Formats: sequence, structure tokens, C-alpha cells
Amino acid sequence: MLEICSDCYVQLPKLHDTAPTHRYIGGSASCWDQFSWLNNAGEPQVAAGRYNALLIDAYCVQHHGKPIPPAINSVAVHGIALYAAIEMGMSPDKAVWIRQFSTFRADGKKHGQFVWLTPPDQRGCVTINDIVTQPTPEARAKMLDEYVLDVWQTWKAVHLDVFAEWYDRFVAN
Ligand SMILES: [Zn+2]
Repeated sequence: MLEICSDCYVQLPKLHDTAPTHRYIGGSASCWDQFSWLNNAGEPQVAAGRYNALLIDAYCVQHHGKPIPPAINSVAVHGIALYAAIEMGMSPDKAVWIRQFSTFRADGKKHGQFVWLTPPDQRGCVTINDIVTQPTPEARAKMLDEYVLDVWQTWKAVHLDVFAEWYDRFVAN
């Protein structure tokens, strides 16, 4: 039996009923399982590529979840990292620093600084499954780059101004 991911719409064989999902990152258990193997275990193997360090950012933005504070913060912080690397030309290796810095600075304000962004239509976007089903580590690296760019383009089309403002407020200044 197939299940459809609520956020990226990938269709994958349904896992057992108790298969875990993340507590605020959205999506199906089968999609989360593929991402977890790829991100945590490096399975299947991916060659070095331009945007490998942004895999988690693209996944967390694509899997926006529901409008609750930790999900709102996740999309914001990971989206800022995508903005910094892709639009501002910051080294993707700095993504960890950008995430920590923007989280820290947003937490330092009295009221929640990030707001829920209505997710764009992500039907037809590149998915994690498109990466893991490529035949070689090099082909997977190439698809990973496409994945990161595709997720960003889809969100940028409707929310570029917001990410630019957050970047200016929490990272640049
Ligand atoms: Zn998904």
C-alpha cells in the first residue's frame, strides 16, 4: 500500500503503523525514513556536491508541518539558511552557523519574531526519493543540488521578501 506525503506529495510504500514521524517537521513516515537514512546514516551514499550541507534546510522547509511555534521557527531558520547560501552567496558550510545565529537572535526578542508562511503548492517538486533512487553517488549529488534549488525556487516565488527581511534582521545586522 502506498502513502502520500502530506508536504512533498511523494508516494512511497507505507511502513508499519508505529513507524516514526518527526514531532514538528511534517510529512509521511516513509518520507521521513528516507530522509533520516540519507541525512543521518549517509545511506545511500552521496558524492560531494555544491549543496550537500543544505539538504536538511531544504527538507525542513519543504516539510513545513503545521502552524505551531516549533514548525514556524524551523521553516524560518532553515529558509534563512537557503536564502543566505543561494541568494547571498554565503558558503553552504556556514549554514550551521546561520541557523544557530538566527535562532539565537530571534529568541532574544520578547515576542515571536517569525510568522507562519502559507506553504506554496509543492506538487511536482523534486523529492528525497528522487535523490535516493539515482543509480550512483555522483548522480545523487547532482539530484541533491536540484532538490535544494527546486525547494528554494518554489518558496522564493511567494516568500522571497520575508526571507530577505529576516536575513537582514537576524543575520546581517
Ligand atoms: Zn515528503
